[in-house]
Amino acid sequence: MKPAPFDYARPDTLSEALRDLALHGAAARPLAGGQSLLPLLNRRALCPARLIDLTRIEALRGVLPTADGALRIGAATTYAALERDPLVASRQPLLAETLPRVAHLAVRNRGTLGGSLCHADPAAELGATCLALEARLTLASARGTRTLDIDDFLRGPFVTALADDELLVAVELPALPTGAGTCFLEFCRREADPSLVAAAVVLGVDAEGRCRDVRIALAGAGPRALRATQAAALLEGERPGAAVFAAAARHAAAREVDPPSDVHADAAYRRQLVRTFVGRALARAAARIEAVHR
Ligand code: FAD
Repeated sequence: MKPAPFDYARPDTLSEALRDLALHGAAARPLAGGQSLLPLLNRRALCPARLIDLTRIEALRGVLPTADGALRIGAATTYAALERDPLVASRQPLLAETLPRVAHLAVRNRGTLGGSLCHADPAAELGATCLALEARLTLASARGTRTLDIDDFLRGPFVTALADDELLVAVELPALPTGAGTCFLEFCRREADPSLVAAAVVLGVDAEGRCRDVRIALAGAGPRALRATQAAALLEGERPGAAVFAAAARHAAAREVDPPSDVHADAAYRRQLVRTFVGRALARAAARIEAVHR
């Protein structure tokens, strides 16, 4: 199928793009990598009157360190550019581990971090990883800018807090807790497919070696990427170990997820995957803490 006819704008600056979006509102759609949007247009699941191409806007690309140790990533930075970025590799190992698991290289050459978060596929790997990293999102419109935690940005399946005239401009990833271990794991039917379930874990430890600032985030386990906050709380103050990790994983699977049933897997199977992959991700993250302190 071919898309319905649309107008096409390719602004060079962010302010031009915001003006255009203010003028056309819900009739317009931002176009980033096009890796999710174009299939929807081709199927005529979406028929916007106008596409606003973001790929020429320099201000939406790149990775910058901030004074407080965070990384500020332009929303239209491609996955491939992030995979090659030395700051991502050295400061955000969880993101670095996640990126090669998203789709194929051809998709990663075009697809963008912002596009993935705005598309808000509940199975998207980067939703879980950005939740575990407590990402802060900058949204802009001709009316001004605002900052949202990713937890408030992701609303439901393919639904976000973006208003019709807003663009996601940047994703800020705060520095990890000192010495924290991280791990991303997913289960797919085939390499590069969207995950059936993905688990992203950050595991900090205090000076006595007890778990602190534990974060467990999941994709494919509910109507949106979500955090298993109760399971993480069970670990606070405990010494890392197989028994406490197993208990946390059991709790997450039994109490904190609401997985879908579809042609790929039923809810009971996904729940089992949550239990297995949360347990494994915690164990690997703990092993990486030890490696840091060796
Ligand atoms: P686009 O497709 O251009 O846009 C997606 C949506 O976000 C649109 O509604 C658009 O209007 C909106 N948007 C984009 N940028 C902004 C912005 N800055 N501000 C406001 N709105 C914006 N994804 C996975 O997560 N895991 C996978 O394993 C996976 N496998 C794939 C395999 C194939 C073969 C293909 C084609 C895609 C796959 N995808 C997968 C989807 C891919 O990751 C997309 O790149 C991503 O979902 C959207 O990013 P994009 O930059 O391509 O955005």
